[in-house]
Amino acid sequence: MNYVELADLLFPNNQFTVEDIERKYPKRNLKEGAQVTRFAPSPTGYMHLGGFFQVLIDYNLAKRSGGVFYLRIEDTDSKREVSGAATIVMNILSEYGIVPDEYQLKGGVTVGDYGPYYQSERVEIYKAYAKKLVSEGKAFPCFCRKTEGLDDVKEKREKKFAVGINEDKDPCRNLTIEQIKEYLAAGKKFAIRLKSNGDGSKKVKFRDGAKGDVEIIENCMDAILLKNDLVPTYHFAHAVDDTLMGTTAVIRGEEWLPSYPLHKEIFDALGFKQPRYIHTPLIYKLNEVGNKRKISKRKDPEFYMGFFGKEGYPRQAVIEYLLNLINSRFENWRKANPTADLSEFPFDGFNITAITPLFDFVKLNDVSKEIISRYTAEQCYNALLSWARENATNDVDYLVKDKEYVTKVLNIDREKPKPRKDIYKWSMFFETFDYMFGVPSTFELEEENKKNFEEVLKNYKKYIDLSSKDVWFEKIKQMSAELGYAVDNKEYKANPDKFKGNVAKVCEYIRVAITGRKNSPDLYEIMTLLGEKQVLDRISEFV
Ligand code: GLU
Repeated sequence: MNYVELADLLFPNNQFTVEDIERKYPKRNLKEGAQVTRFAPSPTGYMHLGGFFQVLIDYNLAKRSGGVFYLRIEDTDSKREVSGAATIVMNILSEYGIVPDEYQLKGGVTVGDYGPYYQSERVEIYKAYAKKLVSEGKAFPCFCRKTEGLDDVKEKREKKFAVGINEDKDPCRNLTIEQIKEYLAAGKKFAIRLKSNGDGSKKVKFRDGAKGDVEIIENCMDAILLKNDLVPTYHFAHAVDDTLMGTTAVIRGEEWLPSYPLHKEIFDALGFKQPRYIHTPLIYKLNEVGNKRKISKRKDPEFYMGFFGKEGYPRQAVIEYLLNLINSRFENWRKANPTADLSEFPFDGFNITAITPLFDFVKLNDVSKEIISRYTAEQCYNALLSWARENATNDVDYLVKDKEYVTKVLNIDREKPKPRKDIYKWSMFFETFDYMFGVPSTFELEEENKKNFEEVLKNYKKYIDLSSKDVWFEKIKQMSAELGYAVDNKEYKANPDKFKGNVAKVCEYIRVAITGRKNSPDLYEIMTLLGEKQVLDRISEFV
């Protein structure tokens, strides 16, 4: 077979040759060790936690090595297309302070010299490489109808198992040039398949940045490179794009791991060097009964990245929590360096955790509480206000008007060696502090102590004094003693029956009347902020 003749027959009108293309995509001029990474989503129009997990690795690897992080939209499967996909992804990323170095907005700007960054605009490039492979006898046309839209090795595999064929080589590889000419003359469409050299007798080995040393049986399938509309499969586009665009490390989901041998064969056929790979594990969560299960796009809306912003989680909390999942050393580092900038964490993107990451909201909330507890009241106020604005809540006007009071509420128990850790997302602010903005609607009352409760409150009007914390507490102690409560806790423990309770119980009654809760931040701070009149009103209303 004259392969050059065959290539010309199949691709008579290609716009470019491989040489033309390679002139347009010179090797990137970066310092030694600089990593080029990319996020390559299909244009589904949303960003899921799993994708963001990859972006964090991409971004950190590139930025910390003086490299490049770019966004490529893999839109060759038009069924799943959402227009403006890049804008959607860019918006989410920028919420988290991540801006790709190179990207393209449909109908807008392109930043970077290695575009187009939408695969659908690179079709002529793939055709040039397909033609080259055919001209070298490394790929061939396949006229079978089943290649229509057939995208994945998986489909072929499934078919093979279903009919028990132990033959991965495609029958079309044996067509003669005459037959091919006949098919073409009859207007038959063709796909391009790789002519695999593998027979499954060897294994390919490589070192994965998450899985460690991996060994998989070599590829032996004549996999499709261009579908019969001449649009590439993921596999072929991966080899061509990541090479031309200079990617040095591919961070992608572990579902691609089984395709690695095929990718190796395609890269080899093209004479390309493979990038390094990091196959990220699927993220799990605990289900209702405490069993682990994969997070699912369908069942778990809380794992769309938009969710965290809506709920008002500080972006830093989400990032830090994910860094915990990515790298098990992060947690200890953070403990040892509570205020250090994230950029100081010695991030090793080629040693991603091998353990299945388990997303745990309780843990995220703890990370978030910790972060918020280190904010100043002013920082809290600003974050709360921008959350309210982003989500257009009804509280925006109030927050603006009463900035001073809200900031004071946010400052309760804050400037202390052990600041309080009650809030982990801004959406819980008004609910947590309802009693600072109105009379509480429920009260944690103990029926059996109702009489004592009433007695304390009735008397407290005479003792209230907010002039200083010490005076305030002295007065409460004085009242407690007079009403038969222990002021000294040791005494109380030794002889509990002698007393109606201790001074802590008295404080609890006052606290419940004012805040509705048995537990609250510093009661004195709350009372001074509410002011004596408001406190007394609440108490008499209660009585
Ligand atoms: N478009 C592919 C996906 O969404 C990209 C995989 C990769 O990063 O190479 O799974």
